[in-house]
Amino acid sequence: LEAQFAQAQKMQAVGQLAGGVAHDFNNVLQAIIGYSDLLLANHRPTDPSFQDIMQIKQNANRAASLVRQLLAFSRRQTLRPQVIQLGEGLSDLSLLLKRLLGETVELDLRHGRDLWLVKADVNQFEQVIVNLAVNARDAMPEGGRLTIRTANVPAAESGAYGDRTMPAGDYVMVEVADTGSGMPPEVIEKIFEPFFTTKEVGKGTGLGLSTVYGIVKQTGGFIFCESEVGRGTTFRIFLPRHVPAEAEEAPKAETAKKQAA
Ligand code: ADP
Repeated sequence: LEAQFAQAQKMQAVGQLAGGVAHDFNNVLQAIIGYSDLLLANHRPTDPSFQDIMQIKQNANRAASLVRQLLAFSRRQTLRPQVIQLGEGLSDLSLLLKRLLGETVELDLRHGRDLWLVKADVNQFEQVIVNLAVNARDAMPEGGRLTIRTANVPAAESGAYGDRTMPAGDYVMVEVADTGSGMPPEVIEKIFEPFFTTKEVGKGTGLGLSTVYGIVKQTGGFIFCESEVGRGTTFRIFLPRHVPAEAEEAPKAETAKKQAA
């Protein structure tokens, strides 16, 4: 299970990196291939350098084919947003979370009433919760409690959640709070950076929270972290409320639920 999560985290990050880099890299490769062609045109096949230039061209072509695969992979990572009710997604996840947390960490799931809809990718949302839960578990080696709470946060209140950069609006909040080790300010500052980890080699990739951040941002949401050494850590995710056009209201939510199952 653990290895699967680590792998999923890695793949996600590789996908995001690949999407950005592969495109530019491909342009460089096309230049190398182009200049190789020019050189080949100026050499006879019997020239000693002809075979060497052929090698350059063939290898550049191989690299281009790798880049194409990376691009295909990163495209697979794009979000497929559906209209969903986050509370349902969390209930579906609870079994997996319990297994993940083990016997010493208690799971407390609290659903807000009449939760608003959001437009999010169900699988990616699960990834977000799982990544946060893995970190929470690691921060509670002696056991503790993981509380996951959902709530509607209306526009009138969304400004009061501390961060000035969050535009006022209707949000659905998911709060993931642990009673673990907590973090000092200098760690909190860096947690969303790719490859930042305080875990020992082989245990942490430093990609969990940067993946979480990426998914939340791509969904149009915000994530905040509050932590105190010795007391625990709370992550709060705010996803913008989705108000369906009249025609798509009830049936859409049903479909999303079925596809998530
Ligand atoms: P990884 O878990 O592989 O180290 P993450 O990006 O998920 O990578 O987390 C980065 C770092 O943030 C962790 O190494 C840890 O120091 C810190 N961290 C994340 N979540 C928590 C938490 N719930 N409690 C304490 N520290 C945390």
